[in-house]
Amino acid sequence: MTAKSPDSSSGYGRGGTWRANVLTLLPEAFPGLLGLSLAGKALKNGIWSLEVVDIREFARDKHRSVDDAGFGGGPGMVMRPDILAAAIDHTVSADRDAGCVDSAREGERPLIYLSPRGARFDQAMAQELADGPGVTLICGRFEGVDERVIQARAVREVSLGDFVLSGGETAAQAVVDAVVRLLPGVVGDPATLQEESFESGLLEYPHYTRPQEWEGLRVPDILLSGHHKEIEVWRQRQAEELTRIRRPDLWQSYVDAQRKIKAQAQDED
Ligand code: SAH
Repeated sequence: MTAKSPDSSSGYGRGGTWRANVLTLLPEAFPGLLGLSLAGKALKNGIWSLEVVDIREFARDKHRSVDDAGFGGGPGMVMRPDILAAAIDHTVSADRDAGCVDSAREGERPLIYLSPRGARFDQAMAQELADGPGVTLICGRFEGVDERVIQARAVREVSLGDFVLSGGETAAQAVVDAVVRLLPGVVGDPATLQEESFESGLLEYPHYTRPQEWEGLRVPDILLSGHHKEIEVWRQRQAEELTRIRRPDLWQSYVDAQRKIKAQAQDED
């Protein structure tokens, strides 16, 4: 009924492995990008695992329908609550039966519906998910899902941003990609993660590589100087400047946070 993932033979129950359950009407979209490069290598190495659940398998009529016209009129179809809930219940109980839920990584996997109405996905949420046992993601299609299933199964809604995708699958892949690269052992040098945009509350400084001069544009001298301390200061300034200009919202939070840290340090003196 489920499991078209590359590691499906190993199935549930590998305690400690971060797991993504993905409920979708397009199972063939997975693993997609998640089967390639960093995430794909980590998937093959068993650092994380993927269970793809085809929602249509839970349809009961001969047309295998999963959606219907919305009450109250208006265009578009809505995903039926009974079919989707059956897929959710199956996934959650398969997790429980296999002892996945109370494995080395404590607690249940959060149940998330990818939706433009949701809380905005960000690096902090990616880290929160990476610290947990995994996630169960529901990908919507059509106009979305019947509101009652969100209520009845206490589903959390998460959005990728203020735009409308035609389905939750691309959003699910983005979320899993962002989380998987935070799992221990996925990114070769963990220092890379600490330096990245958002980790410090700032956007990242600019990068340069060879050639030293290209189309008349030179790599900033400081980066060729070998003065590590000064390079660090330069990068910090660049990061601050970029953030201030491009993202006043992030900049304000950063300034507030720095102020708090300073005040705390003064209190301790
Ligand atoms: N009628 C809905 C949009 C439905 S789009 C509305 O106006 O809010 C179809 C599906 O794409 C949704 O069910 C959701 O799963 C996914 N989707 C669309 N935009 C998204 C976004 N910004 N973030 C996450 N998922 C999104």
